[in-house]
Amino acid sequence: MDLSLSAEDQAFQDEVRRFLDDNLSEDLREAGAKTGGVFADFAAGLRWHKVLARRGWSAPSWPQEYGGTGWNATQRYIFARECTAVDAPRIFSMGLRMVGPVIMKFGTPEQKAKYLPKIVAGDITFCQGYSEPGSGSDLASLKTRAVRDGDDYVINGTKIWTTGAHVADHMFCLVRTAAEGKPQDGISFVLIDSMQTPGLSVKPIVTLAGDHEVNQVFFDNVRTPVANRIGPENAGWTVAKYLLEFERGGDAYTPNLYARIEDVRRIAREEAADGSGRLIEERGFAERLAEAEIAIQALEMIELQVLSDLSKGRNPGAVSSQMKIRGSETLQALDHLGVEALAWYAAPFEPEARTMGRNEPTVVPDLGLTAMPLYLNNRAATIYAGSNEIQRNIVAKAVLAL
Ligand SMILES: Cc1cc2nc3c(=O)[nH]c(=O)nc-3n(C[C@H](O)[C@H](O)[C@H](O)COP(=O)(O)OP(=O)(O)OC[C@H]3O[C@@H](n4cnc5c(N)ncnc54)[C@H](O)[C@@H]3O)c2cc1C
Repeated sequence: MDLSLSAEDQAFQDEVRRFLDDNLSEDLREAGAKTGGVFADFAAGLRWHKVLARRGWSAPSWPQEYGGTGWNATQRYIFARECTAVDAPRIFSMGLRMVGPVIMKFGTPEQKAKYLPKIVAGDITFCQGYSEPGSGSDLASLKTRAVRDGDDYVINGTKIWTTGAHVADHMFCLVRTAAEGKPQDGISFVLIDSMQTPGLSVKPIVTLAGDHEVNQVFFDNVRTPVANRIGPENAGWTVAKYLLEFERGGDAYTPNLYARIEDVRRIAREEAADGSGRLIEERGFAERLAEAEIAIQALEMIELQVLSDLSKGRNPGAVSSQMKIRGSETLQALDHLGVEALAWYAAPFEPEARTMGRNEPTVVPDLGLTAMPLYLNNRAATIYAGSNEIQRNIVAKAVLAL
């Protein structure tokens, strides 16, 4: 694969850089740089989403007819690399990345018209209601029940680990609509138009790094219209699986990994090695950094291939599982190096230092403010979006035919 940029690609890169210079304000950049979890501060991310939407750039992977950019795979990759390189906030993207493509494929014309333009514009945000206590890897065993009552479904049950349920205003949700037959055959995919719907409540779960990103959601006779079902009743499993391929493979991992390795390098240039000199020059550390960089480059090759397939309308298939495994494991290796480079400065617990606008002195040097939070939060990267053990099972079956 030829990875050198053509003159046209370079012109595009310049255009993106100019746009970022002109539009990524200092406070948005701060929000990006202080991200200690998966997504940037929600409000800042939403502001950035709207800036991108005004330029027509909020949905790089969507077809143009639905408000996408029409970029080819290389352009999309360039855009992602340029954004992460300057700490643009990571947008809360479950609408753009997950439910949007699902609505395009399985939605009715009315559903497309109702949701897609608002997702692109950042006027509505979705959270993902798949997992339940006892139904994570074994998702088909889910128990949250939806019973038809006139033109509505009435939903009872609970979802857990729901990222951003406290900030999103919509939810896409898997519910059980039939108890007979195979568990997979009794599931439907429905949308809930407001997280304020009567009977719906959200309870925070604070994670290891002290951040509130995930929640448990309870449904007590929550009503949603039958018209909000995507795809036929009891065919939700097919819809759910399609979405998971995008969750695992729809976005490139490597732009973020390149930004993270640069963070580690910056820390290692500042910190002293055990003997003499800087850590970046210490042989053992330098070798591990090089190994991580090689892993990123190898993953980049696969990602560019997948992006190219996606832009031709092919969905990623089982290769998205391979990307998820390699991406999350490389991320954790980088987090480990970051914490090791900071040594004891990684330890102080200063979550308030990562709030927007705060500039009081901290024990942890500025460069390392997110090292430990990312290390702790990204322990979950090998669990969420389907655990890596499950991804290995998929690769074994679908790729190796074992
Ligand atoms: C930070 C975070 C954010 C999340 N966000 C969301 C969200 O927004 N929406 C949502 O719906 N869900 C979300 N999840 C849930 C996530 O998808 C599940 O945690 C995940 O699917 C694993 O399910 P589980 O937690 O029930 O673990 P289990 O399924 O109980 O697994 C426990 C362990 O057993 C292993 N295991 C299970 N079955 C097998 C098998 N057949 N073969 C080999 N090993 C196996 C697993 O790999 C894991 O190590 C999130 C999770 C986390 C941690």
